[in-house]
Amino acid sequence: MQLMEGKNGVIMGIANDRSIAWGIAKSLAQEGAKMIFSYQSEAFLKRIKPLADSIGVVDLIECDASSDESIRSLFTKTNAKLGKIDFVVHAIAYSAKEELTGPYLNTSRANFLNTMDISCYSFTAMCKFSADYLSDNASLLTLTYIGAERVMPHYNVMGIAKAALDASIKYLAVDFGKRNIRVNGLSAGPVKTIASSGIDDFRYILKWNQYNAPLKRNTTLDDIGGCALFLLSDLSSGVTGEIVHVDSGYHVVGMKATDAPDISVV
Ligand code: NAD
Repeated sequence: MQLMEGKNGVIMGIANDRSIAWGIAKSLAQEGAKMIFSYQSEAFLKRIKPLADSIGVVDLIECDASSDESIRSLFTKTNAKLGKIDFVVHAIAYSAKEELTGPYLNTSRANFLNTMDISCYSFTAMCKFSADYLSDNASLLTLTYIGAERVMPHYNVMGIAKAALDASIKYLAVDFGKRNIRVNGLSAGPVKTIASSGIDDFRYILKWNQYNAPLKRNTTLDDIGGCALFLLSDLSSGVTGEIVHVDSGYHVVGMKATDAPDISVV
């Protein structure tokens, strides 16, 4: 018996084969999950269609995370195709690249609100509009980052949005708990993706992690996929309101200022 056999779900946030959501989808497919992928806009469809076909995804549905109507329609259509929904993965974030550099102090009101909307509120909206269609032991998962808990160079407003997202996980876990539905966050170590490439000096963060993390390497999509499989399957039946770190650099303190002259190697 495969871990996800008989389970139906939605994966939100695949942009290409480097996306964290793609790593998760592959792990779930290997264990027999039936899935629908949502994509942000027509421009993404060409790249994710071959990925979806390679693992037998049931359908691809456009969904703009900044629109309640679009999120509502995603779950109505998913329910019509798959019936009850057993899991949803939210791997969506956005902030203007120009504000993912330099001091947080320079954040504009407009980008603060937009970052919060897409990177934080959309998870709450996803929970709200999927609620009627969720099965009674469903598992909901979002992606977060250590920059919510500690200051990371240039992460800026995204760190504030992730901190609010981390708090939402706990409130949503309580709201859904009486239905035995679980809500968790996976805090991934740095991975080179389209989203992370927008963060200034991201290569430094990757390098720092590689040299200083206990495992002396960076987090892979397979590492994240395996942990997501645990959180979305019945193996984690008693785990909710948690943020699980798949970040081998998490326990090491001492990120240098980004203008430091060299990389410290321990
Ligand atoms: P990615 O660029 O592959 O994925 C980001 C996704 O967000 C894309 O698919 C994009 O289409 C989607 N998106 C943005 N705005 C949207 C909108 N308005 N409507 C619908 N979709 C929208 O990058 P990723 O690194 O795989 O990011 C996935 C998640 O993982 C994000 O929440 C990110 O913050 C988180 N995360 C990433 C890292 C990392 O180092 N890459 C580490 C920890 C957490």
